[in-house]
Amino acid sequence: MGLDKIEAMRSNSNFKSYLCPHCQKIMMKGNVRRLKMTCPHCLKMIDADEDELLDVIRAAEKEGSTQ
Ligand SMILES: [Zn+2]
Repeated sequence: MGLDKIEAMRSNSNFKSYLCPHCQKIMMKGNVRRLKMTCPHCLKMIDADEDELLDVIRAAEKEGSTQ
């Protein structure tokens, strides 16, 4: 369990997970150009382009989540 499941999820869906730039938790899954919403975790207002949010995900992956 693990990698196989992740691969399957990635390949059969165009949805991406958007991480909050403040708390780095997943705010929503979808496929949008721009995200404007309140983070359900830290309740901060997020207004960012998809590219900015995906950068957060890349940075988080690079650091390696310990949680
Ligand atoms: Zn947040």
